[in-house]
This record gives sequence, C-alpha cells and structure tokens, in this order.
Amino acid sequence: MKIFISSDMEGTAGVVDWDQCVIGGSQYPYYTDLLTGEINAAIEGAAQAGATEFLVNDAHSKMANLKPDALAGRAGYLSGRYKPMYMMQGLDESFDAVFMVSYHGSMGSRGSVLSHTYFPTAFAEVTVNGVVAGEAGINALVAAAYRVPIVLVTGDATTAEETLRFCPRIETAVVKKSVSRFAAESLHPAAARDLIRDRARAAVEGLKEAGPPDIALPVTLGISFRSSDYCELAARIAGVERTGDLSATIVGDDPLRIYQTFITVVLLCRGLVE
Ligand SMILES: [Zn+2]
Repeated sequence: MKIFISSDMEGTAGVVDWDQCVIGGSQYPYYTDLLTGEINAAIEGAAQAGATEFLVNDAHSKMANLKPDALAGRAGYLSGRYKPMYMMQGLDESFDAVFMVSYHGSMGSRGSVLSHTYFPTAFAEVTVNGVVAGEAGINALVAAAYRVPIVLVTGDATTAEETLRFCPRIETAVVKKSVSRFAAESLHPAAARDLIRDRARAAVEGLKEAGPPDIALPVTLGISFRSSDYCELAARIAGVERTGDLSATIVGDDPLRIYQTFITVVLLCRGLVE
C-alpha cells in the first residue's frame, strides 16, 4: 500500500513565525526537526495500519527542507524547486492515499497562523466551484484527477475546517489553535506526534470508505488578486479568463489541467516581483 505525503511547514505544532520556517532563519533548523517528527509520525501510523511504501513531496518554500535519512519508513523524498505539479508532484494513480502534513489556512481565513494561498503577495483568495479554498482545496484537484483519496490533514483548526469542505471524510489532526496570524497555542510536540500517528493509522484503516475529493465537474477555479498587474499578467495565459479588474477564472473538465494552469499563474506572478 502506497502513501503520498505532501509536506508543508507552517502547520507544525510550535511554528508561528516566518523566521522559524524559512531557510536562513535563526530558528529554522530546530523547527525542521519538529516538522520531520510530524511527518514521521504520519508514516509510522500509516505503517501500523499496513502501508508499506511512502513518498514525501517537500512542498514548502524552496522545497528542500528535510534530511532524507531522517525520514521514517524508508520513504522516498521528492525535493527541489520548479516542480510542474508543485505541492502534488509525484502523485499518480499508483498511490492508495494522500496525506497533507503541516498545512495552513488560506490567505483570507480569520487568524490562521501564517495563512496564505500559494503566494501571499499576489493572491487574496482562491475558490474552487465557488467555495473558498486553501492550498489543501486547490491541491485536491490533483488527487481528484488521479482518483486518489486524501485521508489525513494536519495543522491548525482552520486548516482542518477548510480541508473538510472538499474532503468531508478526511481524518484531521489539529495540533494547534491559532490566536492570530502570528500566534498559536500548540500541543507539546510529543503530543502532536501521538495525535498525528493515531489519526494516520485511523485514516489508513478507514481507507475502504474513503473516496476521491468531492469536486464536481466542470471545475471553476476563481482567483482574486491583490493588485491589477498580477491579474493582467495571469490573463495572458491560455485558459485564464479575466472577469474583473482583480479577478479571473480557470474553467474546465480536467482538474489536472486546471491545477497546472493555476501553477503557471503562480510562477508567472512570482516572476513579476523576483
Ligand atoms: Zn509552506
């Protein structure tokens, strides 16, 4: 049984500031160890329920945050930048389930710690079929395309709630309660790992009842931009239709193409400021 793990970092118990989760930050090495502990807890829980193969796709910042030999379960490690499928690179129909570890709330969510949606400078809000989507909801398009169920999400309470909108049967491991965008009350790391291990095991045990994400076709992905220059640039991409000064949509029957078009928007908008 194969498990795909998309690992972010902002949702780790204890993480509340960019300095803790950006390469070069003074506290970054310590918090990457905490992240690794949470990923490993998810792997261990899944293994207890019979999972045998794991691929960890590093999906945070420069996407090279982990020590490969520190991963449990002899997990494969997909790392590095400019992956065409970004946070979901490596997933295909050969996997039995998807875990989303250390995810965070969407840009507009109320007080979710380190909240953003892919690129905070450009995107105010993203919707999938009219429902506000965080990264979990957007990434669910890829799981829907390959018909693989997403069965575990870890992070704060907002992240769990936002993911449930698209994956109503998902197991959630809530390891912190956000107080503001830069404050949270976290479980002790050991308690967070115990919770994640437990929910991961339950997620794999319940796999028979789980289905792929609940996203009706055709899909409409809506983007609200924070300034018109980003919107103007995005609208030059085939498949992106400008619907207002600050808004655009991507519509179609192929969730994979919609995700790839969205990722192209992300990369193009990043290029505008870098
Ligand atoms: Zn991240």
